[in-house]
Amino acid sequence: MELTGWGRYPRFEAEVIEPSSRLDAIHRQGGLNGFVPRGNGRAYGDAAIGMTSCLCLRKLDRFCRFDETSGQLTVESGVLLADIIAEYLPRGFFPPVVPGTKLVTIGGMIAADVHGKNHHCASSFGEHVESLSLALPSGKAVMCSKAEFPDLFEATIGGMGLTGTILQATFRLLRVETGWIKQHTIVAGDLAAALAILSKHDDASYSTAWIDCLAKGSALGRSLIYLGEHATNVDVETLKPGAPRTPPPRTRRLSVPLDLPHFTLNSWSVAAFNEIYYRKGISSAGKPFLNETDSFFFPLDSVQDWNRIYGRRGFLQHQSVVPAERAHAAFGEILGRVAKRGNASFLAVLKKLGASSRGLMSFPSPGFTLALDLAIDNGIFEFLDDLDRLIAAAGGRLYLAKDARQSRATFEAGYPNLVKFRDVRRQIGARDRVASRLSERLGI
Ligand SMILES: Cc1cc2nc3c(=O)[nH]c(=O)nc-3n(C[C@H](O)[C@H](O)[C@H](O)COP(=O)(O)OP(=O)(O)OC[C@H]3O[C@@H](n4cnc5c(N)ncnc54)[C@H](O)[C@@H]3O)c2cc1C
Repeated sequence: MELTGWGRYPRFEAEVIEPSSRLDAIHRQGGLNGFVPRGNGRAYGDAAIGMTSCLCLRKLDRFCRFDETSGQLTVESGVLLADIIAEYLPRGFFPPVVPGTKLVTIGGMIAADVHGKNHHCASSFGEHVESLSLALPSGKAVMCSKAEFPDLFEATIGGMGLTGTILQATFRLLRVETGWIKQHTIVAGDLAAALAILSKHDDASYSTAWIDCLAKGSALGRSLIYLGEHATNVDVETLKPGAPRTPPPRTRRLSVPLDLPHFTLNSWSVAAFNEIYYRKGISSAGKPFLNETDSFFFPLDSVQDWNRIYGRRGFLQHQSVVPAERAHAAFGEILGRVAKRGNASFLAVLKKLGASSRGLMSFPSPGFTLALDLAIDNGIFEFLDDLDRLIAAAGGRLYLAKDARQSRATFEAGYPNLVKFRDVRRQIGARDRVASRLSERLGI
């Protein structure tokens, strides 16, 4: 069948194999060549599209063990983050790291070593994984952890599925008093202010900035900074007296039923949206308020199939990280070019990242990360190639889970552990057997 990532570019045919159990997955994988594991298809580009086939893990969705005292949870790799939150948040537990959508599998979260709004203090998801069970291309399954097969463990965290199939994982949930987030919004008039505010609020558990990337001149990089903490019982009593300990789950989701024509999203419609959004942010700034966990962490999930607003041609996300001291120059240049080009980026997010993660191929490294969604139009590939050169010159890299198009040169410049990663792949016989469109494109 035809497969894409969330950005709906590129499109490739691949066979989809859906094992029904861990044993079945080990068995089916044994006979495949040119396959890659696939979770819920939320990587934007070609990471979860196999050269010939995909081993789709969504049916490995069992909760295996939970220890209420320590918060330690063991689940199969196809369990959705959304299901973990639905089960455990009402019981006072929350995952240690969550990305911007909860419609991802645990296997996908480990393979991309996802980061959240708390990377500056909590690192990425892989750092919280205590052990995982991995089906090797040879058809053997092994347990990996810091103590057992540490090289394989480090290669699998952030390894984009290229070391085999994660079958099951154990990690620890955080204890939280309520299911609310105490949110605080700060307005930043330009990029320098946004970077300074994110740095100053390093002590906030969660922080992120929404950038109005059509703002130009002295307003270039103007942003709304969102800070958040898990609300305590006292916070709920003070800010929302009488509210339940956990907000009731949302029952209604808006949806985008059709591919919208490509002219729907243009610099005028996005500029109008940004202006309204920014003004609304200004009016709520300064006073803390209680936000629902879903609205704070996963605002885009409230619109089903929102990727269709970019039309059938699809869209690209350009997510980079650069060291803190280069962020102002590099991101200022990028935002200036985006604003000048007028290619509407509906979503532009800036975050501060903390120490490097343990995965050999993990994306996060100390500094700031900027993510821009851009519709596919004439000239966009050349435009992004130029941005890649800026990022490489600033000592940065692009995130593989968002990538659909970077060149080998950009990739190799950004991932110094590539040689070691290739070695691990060779040792376990993955080099010829496990191959995605991404790994072929980048020569991994
Ligand atoms: C709206 C949105 C917001 C996002 N926000 C963030 C964010 O804030 N931070 C962030 O880090 N990421 C973010 N992402 C990216 C997303 O978290 C990752 O791409 C994640 O890997 C998707 O999980 P998935 O289950 O859909 O995996 P897929 O997209 O199906 O696969 C992703 C990769 O994981 C591998 N994989 C999947 N399952 C397994 C398995 N069982 N064993 C081995 N390998 C496997 C695949 O081979 C592939 O390389 C976002 C994505 C979207 C759509």
